[in-house]
Amino acid sequence: MKPVIAFVLLCSLLVVSSTAEQFDFFYLVQQWPGSFCDTRQGCCFPETGKPAADFGIHGLWPNYAKCHSRSSYDDLTRAALGDVDVVFFLSRRRGKKKCWPEYCDDGNTLSPWEIRDLVASMETSWPTLSCKSSRSFEFWSYEWKKHGTCSNLGQHDYFARALALKAAHNLTAILAAAGIVPSATATYSMTGVSDAIAKGTGFTANLECNRDADGESQLFQVYQCVNRDGTQLIDCPLQMPTKCRGDRVKLPLF
Ligand code: 5GP
Repeated sequence: MKPVIAFVLLCSLLVVSSTAEQFDFFYLVQQWPGSFCDTRQGCCFPETGKPAADFGIHGLWPNYAKCHSRSSYDDLTRAALGDVDVVFFLSRRRGKKKCWPEYCDDGNTLSPWEIRDLVASMETSWPTLSCKSSRSFEFWSYEWKKHGTCSNLGQHDYFARALALKAAHNLTAILAAAGIVPSATATYSMTGVSDAIAKGTGFTANLECNRDADGESQLFQVYQCVNRDGTQLIDCPLQMPTKCRGDRVKLPLF
């Protein structure tokens, strides 16, 4: 190989490695629509209509196995490279812990064209329930900008991998097989929910609760852990605070 070509190749390799995000795993976060909607805040259906009574994707989030201080090597490197946002962020949030990367490339906006073959599946599997906008595309754009730009994946792969993981492990069916079905009155043990997911998927997950309008604790989101290329579930390296009250939770109707 000619020395000039070798030099150019080496330089581009250095640029790629200095901009790749150094996270440890992804969280695939899925929300139970009944628990999003029956809170005091309520919800709104997307313009495509009421979603199915099924877990919906919230996001695929790069995460660190260990939180670190914001003035770490990673931030300092980016600051040294002249990332104005990082310098601003550092000066504003100095001393706070950073547990995941976010907003890694604000100029990288989600293109409808890039994900055109995924839109029909995303409308079913990744619908918005927010009343801020009933356009799911706005939710996907937000998730891409905040989390996807830190994933080291292109736009199409980022969404396709989240969809494939959801399809490979149907949480609604896995819980139903363990007798955990949506109900206005039944309560389930958290241990039962955790065990059902571990048995049904082969991997441990983290659970998050929220409160319905009467203050009752209910299963809200399931955090499954995923390898760095977004293709395989792994056991969760971290235990999160669950926000659940006691060991019993509801799974409300939707
Ligand atoms: P994140 O939790 O990814 O940091 O932020 C989620 C953002 O997406 C919030 O601003 C929220 O208002 C918006 N959003 C739009 N649709 C939904 C939805 O269906 N579920 C959730 N959890 N957030 C949504």
